[in-house]
Amino acid sequence: MKIKSGNGPRVFCVANQKGGVGKTTTTVNLAAGLAQVGQRVLVVDLDPQGNATMGSGIDKRALTSSVYDVLLENIGIAEAARASPKGGYHVLGANRELAGAEIELVQLERRERRLKAALALVAESYDFVLIDCPPSLSLLTLNGLCAAHGVIVPMQCEYFALEGLSDLVNTIKQVHANLNPDLQIIGLLRVMFDPRITLQQQVSEQLKAHFGDKVFNTVIPRNVRLAEAPSYGQPGVTFDPASRGAKAFVEFAQEMVAKLG
Ligand code: ADP
Ligand code: MG
Repeated sequence: MKIKSGNGPRVFCVANQKGGVGKTTTTVNLAAGLAQVGQRVLVVDLDPQGNATMGSGIDKRALTSSVYDVLLENIGIAEAARASPKGGYHVLGANRELAGAEIELVQLERRERRLKAALALVAESYDFVLIDCPPSLSLLTLNGLCAAHGVIVPMQCEYFALEGLSDLVNTIKQVHANLNPDLQIIGLLRVMFDPRITLQQQVSEQLKAHFGDKVFNTVIPRNVRLAEAPSYGQPGVTFDPASRGAKAFVEFAQEMVAKLG
């Protein structure tokens, strides 16, 4: 799969306009998995809830500079990013302050390209940039989509999953047509999967029938260790490497690296 031409990191949004579907869990664990296979990774937290920040072991209330400052105050990412103490990657953090950015951004020039411009200045420093998007198709998400080469869509194999997907697919098509010709869906990642539930198996089969090789081979199981890890300020991949969830995310990181060539 051809993702980009030229140098610089591969930039991916982890997006799904639904909340609670596993975006943040995917972002921090894929970051940790990629770090384990030797990749230099930056996580950009674009969600004012700051879950990716906290889940990487960085206190969102104590940030001296954040993605807000990068988007609105022209602070450099090199200055604003911090190392995740356990994760093995860097984080451009977020907190409540980012909730106001939506309104402030509207007045700025090239308002949907602020993140892309900021990332261009740190292109030499990273192999991967993973952007954790908020659960909406907002101007913040648009900044993510404009900066990215591709979108990773975590989804639960539930009845309404496919329905929600069409809005996201349409948005990605529009961004591709109007703002970012590089943008493509890299893949759909089945998360919180429980093979004992027949409906989940059925939806999983439907996904494969409909989206073919756009569905990642790796399946992330429902695993409580992944849910516990954030309260210890680290991704499941480092919190409990032997857990099924951690192993699945390391496998996913390997699949990503192999898929991209
Ligand atoms: P989002 O970022 O899309 O809102 P999260 O990644 O925060 O979703 O996940 C929502 C909730 O589900 C969190 O409490 C998280 O810990 C939990 N969770 C996510 N993935 C798994 C999994 N594979 N197994 C068990 N719990 C999970
Ligand atoms: Mg989240």
